[in-house]
This record gives sequence, structure tokens and C-alpha cells, in this order.
Amino acid sequence: TQAKQPAAEATAPRRAPAALTHPDRIYWPDAGVTKQGLADYWAEVYDRASPHLTGRPLALVRCPEGIAGERFFQKHLWQGARRAIVAVRDPRDASGAALVSIKDLAGLLGLVQAAALEIHPWGSTVKDWETPDRIVMDLDPGEGVPWEATLAGAVEVAERLKQAGLVPFVKTSGGKGLHVVAPLTPKAQWPQVKAFTKAIADAMAADSPERYVATIAMAKRRGRILIDYLRNQRGATAVAPYSPRARPGAPVSMPLHWDELGPAIGPAYFTVANAPARLAAAADPWADFTAAAAPLADGPRTTTRRR
Ligand code: ATP
Ligand code: MN
Ligand code: MN
Repeated sequence: TQAKQPAAEATAPRRAPAALTHPDRIYWPDAGVTKQGLADYWAEVYDRASPHLTGRPLALVRCPEGIAGERFFQKHLWQGARRAIVAVRDPRDASGAALVSIKDLAGLLGLVQAAALEIHPWGSTVKDWETPDRIVMDLDPGEGVPWEATLAGAVEVAERLKQAGLVPFVKTSGGKGLHVVAPLTPKAQWPQVKAFTKAIADAMAADSPERYVATIAMAKRRGRILIDYLRNQRGATAVAPYSPRARPGAPVSMPLHWDELGPAIGPAYFTVANAPARLAAAADPWADFTAAAAPLADGPRTTTRRR
């Protein structure tokens, strides 16, 4: 005979469709975000986040004990991963080691089950690993840089991308800086895309050496912003739009409208707690992201500003 359903299950509140183990485990103690809370967050933002998460290799920041415990940056698939997490293989990796990818919300919730607090995708998809479908310019303000200067830096990066015929979008990092992201028609290969982004960073550092640096070695200099173009090389990753960060407060990397940039919204302003209200209240600032994809112009292009 069939076992009777416990009455509690029939009346349980509707939640993310994942049977999580230890749903009450606390991942962000200061913000009070649990494993179930993270799953519910992803279920709420999934429609906007999925184009940036699915069908591409993913690196993960896994924190089995939450942000206060040990963490590891993981690129390879592990034993016991849920079946909704897809194994993908880098055609250029002779070892054939399986990397992590997802196709749907079930896969994303599989990552939650594995305590993946941050998700860092590649800039290309598994349809064509060699041709990125986005540029990510990562603005890393050094110590003492006022927020306004970082905002101005993002606007300048955006102008230079526009000059090259691309459409820039902006998001908070959830950490200290901003990311300017431009969708690409996947056509140019990684070396060309990297050279293009390096040329932008170098030009900004050459035009305004008191404001910008383009290399990590120089970035130790106080008061300057590193224009980190190295997200744009094969195998590099950047935190996904809408991904939470494994940092106090459960901040998330939040897509913004350009006209939202200002002193009111700092790099960690949006969080797992306040993101759903934002999504409900405002139109998707990145609604045109996919349609805005443009190819990188052929050949080298310098973007040094005329003085
Ligand atoms: P912030 O605004 O604080 O700079 P961020 O996400 O831009 O936030 P960065 O330190 O600038 O952080 O970038 C780190 C990048 O390095 C991430 O995009 C991540 O994908 C990548 N990365 C590569 N290896 C690691 C690793 N072992 N641990 C963490 N990140 C790594
Ligand atoms: Mn950064
Ligand atoms: Mn960086």
C-alpha cells in the first residue's frame, strides 16, 4: 500500500523547486541568507539571469560552510554533482577534463545544492568556445579612489566601446567596482578580442595616467583605477550578472541603466535581500542585451583620444 503524504507537505509554501539538503544552512550569517534563501533568490531572477548563465563554461566560488568558512574556486565538475549540472569539455584541453555548465533552473539549483555562492561564466558559449559573445571591462578602483571617479571611468570605457560600434551595458560588481559589458556577435576570436580590450585600457592609461592603469603591476598605485581587460582572454571568467558574492551583506552583481549611475548606488548596493523588489519595480535595464550584439570591427583599431 502507498505511504500517506504527511499533511505538512501539502500545505508547505511554494518555494524554489529544489529538494535541497540542509535548506536552513546559513550561507551569509550577517544578512541571514540561507541555502533555501539563495535558491529562492535564483528562482526569482532566473528569467533575467539565464542568458548570462546557461550554455557556457562556469567557474564557481563554493563555500560549503557559508562565507565565514573555507572557499574554493572550482572549474571542474565533481563527483556527485546533480545530473542537471552538465559536463562540457574544452576542445583545446587535451586532458578532456569535464568543466561545469548548466542549461536551466534545475542546473542552477544544483549549483546551490553544491554551495556555489558565486558563478563566474566564460565570455563564450559551448556552441563556439573560440568566439566570445561579450566583452567585460572590469574597473578596479585602487585605494582612495572616490566612487565618482569609478563612475566616470565606466562612462569613458562605454564611450570608447561605442566608438567601436558596440553597445555597452553596466553592472555593479557586488564588490568594489563596476563592470562594463558589451555583447558581441560571436565572430572575432579570443586573441583579437583581447587585443581590442587591451588597446582600450592602454589608451585610457596613456591619456589619463593620473586616473587609470592598464596593468596589474601598476595597479598597486594608490588612487588609480585598474582597467582590467584580462577578463577577455580564453578561459578567463567574470562574475555573472545577478550572481551573489561570497562577501558580507550578500551583495549581488546587478545590471543597471546608465542613468542610474550616481552616488546613491554603490558597488555592493544591491543584495540578495533587495534585488527581488528591484526586479518587480523596474524594467529590465539589460532587456536589449542580446539584440544589441555587434561584431568587432576587423583589424586593429586604436582609440587614443585627440587632445
Ligand atoms: P571587484 O569589484 O571587487 O573588483 P570583481 O568581481 O571584479 O569584484 P576582481 O578581483 O576584479 O573581482 O576579479 C576577479 C576575477 O578573477 C573574477 O572575475 C574571477 O572570475 C576571476 N578569478 C580567476 N581565478 C580566481 C580565483 N581563484 N578566485 C577568485 N576569482 C578568480
Ligand atoms: Mn573588479
Ligand atoms: Mn579585476
